[in-house]
Amino acid sequence: MHPVSGGCYCGNIQLDLQLANAPASYQPRACDCEFCRKHAAAYISDARGTLRIRINDQRRSGTYRQGSELAEMLLCTHCGVLIGALYRAEGRIYATVNVRVVERAESFGVEQAVSPKQLSADAKVSRWKDLWFSSVELA
Ligand SMILES: [Zn+2]
Repeated sequence: MHPVSGGCYCGNIQLDLQLANAPASYQPRACDCEFCRKHAAAYISDARGTLRIRINDQRRSGTYRQGSELAEMLLCTHCGVLIGALYRAEGRIYATVNVRVVERAESFGVEQAVSPKQLSADAKVSRWKDLWFSSVELA
């Protein structure tokens, strides 16, 4: 496993990722929806990896639902950084991480443009279940 750490600017939200492959083999997905474009976000995830999210002060974290409102965008409301997205189903949390918040983001592969807004709700969910971290600890 390849450990990668990250978090928001002020340190309220911290991330520990374990990736199955070297970072260079992941192509961050630059989503073309209006919300993600305004944050210049691009996402990485690994269905075979693990993700640990530690929120030190819950009162300074927030979630925002946009688009189809199925997923929750996770933000630090103290420093304003967009951490990634969460999807909860069947007692499980799936998640994807904004590559801008991880250490050595430049070690990842070339970004690819994606347009999930064109997918139906069902297609989005099945894509998230295939691509996103499914071993997620939120503390
Ligand atoms: Zn913060």
